Amino acid sequence: MPELPEVEVVRRGLEAHVLDHPIRSVEVLHPRPVRRHAGGPADFAARLTGRTFTAAHRRGKYLWLALDDTDALLGHLGMSGQMLVQPAGVPDERHLRVRFALADDLELRFVDQRMFGGLAISDGGAVIPPEIAHIARDPLDGEFDDPAFVRRVRRSESGIKRVLLNQNIISGVGNIYADEGLWLARLHGERPGSRLRKSDVERVLSGCRQVMLQALGEGGTSFDSLYVNVNGESGYFDRSLQVYGREAEPCSRCGTPIRRISFMNRSSFFCPVCQPAPRRRRPRPAAAAPIS
Ligand SMILES: [Zn+2]
Repeated sequence: MPELPEVEVVRRGLEAHVLDHPIRSVEVLHPRPVRRHAGGPADFAARLTGRTFTAAHRRGKYLWLALDDTDALLGHLGMSGQMLVQPAGVPDERHLRVRFALADDLELRFVDQRMFGGLAISDGGAVIPPEIAHIARDPLDGEFDDPAFVRRVRRSESGIKRVLLNQNIISGVGNIYADEGLWLARLHGERPGSRLRKSDVERVLSGCRQVMLQALGEGGTSFDSLYVNVNGESGYFDRSLQVYGREAEPCSRCGTPIRRISFMNRSSFFCPVCQPAPRRRRPRPAAAAPIS
């Protein structure tokens, strides 16, 4: 499944290659990826033909291409989606679902084997599609508000990891990035936000950002080539992770075996020494029985 840095790589590739080439025709080869378009595949194609992509944006794992600075083509890669930019005439990919033939003999191709992803037209969505306006910005977004995030975390009674996974507060930090960011910040995921110092929250935010930027760097090698590809198989996650998926292996900082605990139907990985669990609050002493 493409993670946020990989989606950002695709956004940059789209920005570099598909803007300002008017759409000559649109061919929907399978109806499922445009299932959210109420008018059906023919209407989808008709409404896009003749328009021009004018900007490429991302919010969390959603991508959108502004159409003449008014509407937008909103897309999600799902589990296996790819956005490929190819010269016209290159043989079709096996799972090609939608083809946008652009001016200058370029094609934007949406390829998706499992078809959990999809494309839709968002009316008036050029700046931000209303369908996804509720999703918070992510830490790689230039307009992410660090001080507001720190304040929001410190008002929360929830554990810091739960906050990091709340898409209404911060988007794009999945389970893996949260565990890695917490390890870098030496914080246990169950520490309540309200009991963290400002510097603790800043450290975990910078840790998550560091891991995401590293992934972006490793996934970004192809973005000035014409072929823009996302397949979720970057290999990054095998090479560079410190705690995630490393149960019982030694922590690279202190040598203590990494522990795994279950968390929201998934797993959390952490070093029990570098990231001590929060002390339980002592139960409040029972009120003294009134003397009768
Ligand atoms: Zn350690």
